[in-house]
Amino acid sequence: MANQKQIPAWFRYPQYNWESKHVVVIGAGIAGCQIAWHLVQAGWQVTLIDREQKIAQQASGNPAGIISPKMTAQSSTGEDFYVSCFDYAITQLTSLKNRHQNLDWHACGLLQLAHNAREELRWESLKNRDFDQIFLQLLDQKQSTDIAGIPLNYKASYFPQAGWINPVSFCEVLLNDCESKNSIEASGKLNVILKTDVINLTRKNESDDWQLCNKQGKIIASAEAVIITSGKDLNRFSQTKNLPSMPVAGQTTTAPSNAFANQLKTTIGHEGYLTPISDTTSQLTFGASFERNINDTELNTETDKNNLEQLSKYLPQLADSFVDINSAHAAIRMTTPDRFPYFGGLADQDFYTDKYNDLHQGKQYKEYPDAKYIGGLFVLAGLGSRGLTTSGLCARILCDILNNNNNDYLNNNSQNENHLIQQHCHSARFIIKDLIRKTTNIR
Ligand SMILES: Cc1cc2nc3c(=O)[nH]c(=O)nc-3n(C[C@H](O)[C@H](O)[C@H](O)COP(=O)(O)OP(=O)(O)OC[C@H]3O[C@@H](n4cnc5c(N)ncnc54)[C@H](O)[C@@H]3O)c2cc1C
Repeated sequence: MANQKQIPAWFRYPQYNWESKHVVVIGAGIAGCQIAWHLVQAGWQVTLIDREQKIAQQASGNPAGIISPKMTAQSSTGEDFYVSCFDYAITQLTSLKNRHQNLDWHACGLLQLAHNAREELRWESLKNRDFDQIFLQLLDQKQSTDIAGIPLNYKASYFPQAGWINPVSFCEVLLNDCESKNSIEASGKLNVILKTDVINLTRKNESDDWQLCNKQGKIIASAEAVIITSGKDLNRFSQTKNLPSMPVAGQTTTAPSNAFANQLKTTIGHEGYLTPISDTTSQLTFGASFERNINDTELNTETDKNNLEQLSKYLPQLADSFVDINSAHAAIRMTTPDRFPYFGGLADQDFYTDKYNDLHQGKQYKEYPDAKYIGGLFVLAGLGSRGLTTSGLCARILCDILNNNNNDYLNNNSQNENHLIQQHCHSARFIIKDLIRKTTNIR
């Protein structure tokens, strides 16, 4: 039977032998809520900690975000990743919505406009590929206008299953579902601790539990496993400080409903995105701005003007219909150099640079020792601009890693795909790339 040996040694995981199945998760955005949900289903005791007064106040605090795949002209690893994540997200959201009517999720479809030469080329290439109509339809301008409910000047790629979600509601429902009696098989337990900033993680010996301390040095929690889901603060801990990352600031803007905007039926993607009027807030959300290498951000009316200007370029009638616009939410999306997130165990960097040092010589015949990790420390972060769509599947595979459910895979296609995703999102992938290229200046 096929097993982990078919994965390169540096991406393999050990068999875990947990004593208490108690895990502490640092950060209650969508990443933290997703992994908490998955682990509670798998029978774990989860302590979820956040420094804010409420959950989902940072990147996951937007009024509206899009759930959609990201397509490339030709089939690619990146596209496969986003499509798998999208499928998983739609299944999860459909099931959650059945149990929680208050989930602010709207499967109203997404029209990605072919609004420039590059998007037109992509549209043409996608048209030549054979997609299931349920997943993707390549529409002309008239068809796009009919679906949107407002006049559009462009052809579009239409994803009927896509839509928009209020991320705070997503996070709340995931946590409520952990407690819910209706939840299919929740068997673990969740404890949420707010207004608590974790400053460091320590343990004296490898066999000890991790201790999480606050600013005063007081121990807040301890557990045999810790998962870091701290969004923009990914690099704050000594164990994560070397993970390559890039902060990108983003702000969304809202406009109150009006007769014209009320006709919009779908979510639309152009340079940015916009969502139809929300029943709950009577607002339409648009944006988001995208400023690289900004570590901190706050609401800014100049950014709202830029968001409106961008909207006017592609949907002038809609932008003209707004009498008023307001700042919605500003936050940092933490991204990575190759745009894949990080999930899995935190690699022991010294072990990697020592044991895999000759990878550049291409010794494929050589038996390398299996990867070594900082025992009990895991990460789910670097979700960038698509975390609402990708966090579910990433959390699911991370949950499988912790539960040793990822060892036999060849007979199961989806497990096979999950293994590839696991490798693309591995915390040591940049070290391995550097070693293969023989970059001596290891990060
Ligand atoms: C303007 C904007 C628009 C977006 N639009 C979309 C979209 O349309 N579709 C999509 O899929 N994605 C979108 N995203 C991206 C998506 O929102 C993010 O990828 C996702 O929210 C990241 O989630 P996270 O849990 O990693 O981070 P966060 O939501 O930032 O959560 C991290 C949490 O960790 C806590 N924390 C950090 N350090 C500590 C510590 N030491 N101790 C205690 N607590 C700590 C923080 O308080 C925070 O609550 C958008 C993001 C932005 C900013």
